[in-house]
Amino acid sequence: MACTDDSTVGGGSRAAALRPAYQSELAKGTDRFMLPRRPDCPWCGSSRLVERLRTTDLIQRKPGEFVLDRCQDCGHTFQNPRLSPDGLDFYYRDFYDGLGEGRLAGVLTTLNKTVRMITDSNHRRRARQVLPFAPEPQRWLDVGTSDGEFCAAARALLPETIFDGLDLSDSVERAERQGNVTHGYQGAFPELAPGLAGRYDVVSMFHYLEHTGEPQHELSAAHQVLRPGGLLLVEVPDPDSVFGRLLGRWWLPWFQPQHLHMIPAGNLGRYLTETGFTVLAEQHGEAHLPIDLLAASWLIISSLAPPADMPWLPKAPDRVSMALRYALYMGGAPAMAMASVLDHTIALCGGRPKVSNAYRILARREL
Ligand SMILES: [Zn+2]
Repeated sequence: MACTDDSTVGGGSRAAALRPAYQSELAKGTDRFMLPRRPDCPWCGSSRLVERLRTTDLIQRKPGEFVLDRCQDCGHTFQNPRLSPDGLDFYYRDFYDGLGEGRLAGVLTTLNKTVRMITDSNHRRRARQVLPFAPEPQRWLDVGTSDGEFCAAARALLPETIFDGLDLSDSVERAERQGNVTHGYQGAFPELAPGLAGRYDVVSMFHYLEHTGEPQHELSAAHQVLRPGGLLLVEVPDPDSVFGRLLGRWWLPWFQPQHLHMIPAGNLGRYLTETGFTVLAEQHGEAHLPIDLLAASWLIISSLAPPADMPWLPKAPDRVSMALRYALYMGGAPAMAMASVLDHTIALCGGRPKVSNAYRILARREL
């Protein structure tokens, strides 16, 4: 089980080139990266909030501390205070693209391979879920499509269906260039929805809603672009998973600072019912990705190791730090292998709410 050190990928020269701009940005302070803390639950309005988690950016190691609050009345869990537009720009930068494109491919080699294998088969399972209710959908919009991997996989199952993709980032342009989606829409879904009203038979959102600032606005947008009788398929991390409590800040789906809202399944189902949808199915085990312990062990090893060459850190690591980093990853590889075996063993016994780290809801838009 090889675990590639991210310092070997992407090159220190790229980090060195980016360092002056990052350092000058950080010299202005990080307060502007967060909005004021809100006193009430964004889902139900209750003021009965408790702190659920306090953590840092465990993956990129950018500066800052992040808090997730939980509403004691409805169970909604959300980042509070939340990232501001400046904060979203800062913390997303060089994660999925730029410097991060190469680094993630390296540092997460083992994890990514595991996830990718699972995800490829997951894509087909996800697409299959709508078939009993819509055997031959004509137009399908995948929101938060990134580079359109889902659409490419689902097309093998539904060759006559037109798959379009929507994403905030320019990755959707790449998706269109590569032919993974027929039309790629770049922008905020609630803003683009009026121009796409009533056009789709299916809208999918896979691990998208938790990244958005206003999940209810996203669901309204889905209602708008679906024709009456069209289907909405949503998959999100489950904040009620037992792994979230057991692993604490090492549970990957907390994913700070990117995950702004963690919505319990009951809340999402009720909200959909109240806003013109009928819930057709709620799945837990089917949406589970068996990576909780593997990811936690990687996050722990990664946080113990000296950081790689990252431009938001004041200086590049020296040779001793890099050697120690390499040794820790190599020494931790057996623990990660064992964690992965345990993940898959647990998954065999899974399929129940509270164990799964994600859930999926399929709903139909009513008239
Ligand atoms: Zn609430």
